[in-house]
Amino acid sequence: MEFLPLIWKQHRHREDFNSCPHCEAPLRWIYDGERWLPCDEEPVLFVMHPTGRVNLVYEKKVIEKCLLYRKGDRRCEGKPLWAYRQHYYTCPVLKARRAEYVRARYEGIADKCTQALPPEPITQANIFGALKKIKEKAAAEGASRLEEGDLPF
Ligand SMILES: [Zn+2]
Repeated sequence: MEFLPLIWKQHRHREDFNSCPHCEAPLRWIYDGERWLPCDEEPVLFVMHPTGRVNLVYEKKVIEKCLLYRKGDRRCEGKPLWAYRQHYYTCPVLKARRAEYVRARYEGIADKCTQALPPEPITQANIFGALKKIKEKAAAEGASRLEEGDLPF
């Protein structure tokens, strides 16, 4: 796999490309006064909501707890506003890479858990029990803790 993370949530400088080097989607570079944010060219409608889990660039600032506006969603009260999404979150290539990274991490953790299991007599019940423990341990120790912000790319 090729690791060339040319698109981050924010960049120190405006890069000289106007479309995503991974998926070729056109980019809109927004300067927040400190950093350059590569965003999808097309804006999206959103509302603020406590259950919102999306970060959006509204009036040149990143704001959290946004909910993408969907007609019929009861949480979308009030007038929706336009904002931009950082391409980091929407790029299909980067998303696939992150999913692959999480999968590899998960499998790595599962391997370690297998090695750490105490020796037990091999019976079918023990094997199923051990597999269950491995999955739970892996979920508790790593895979579930991984969030987008923790990933190195
Ligand atoms: Zn892309």
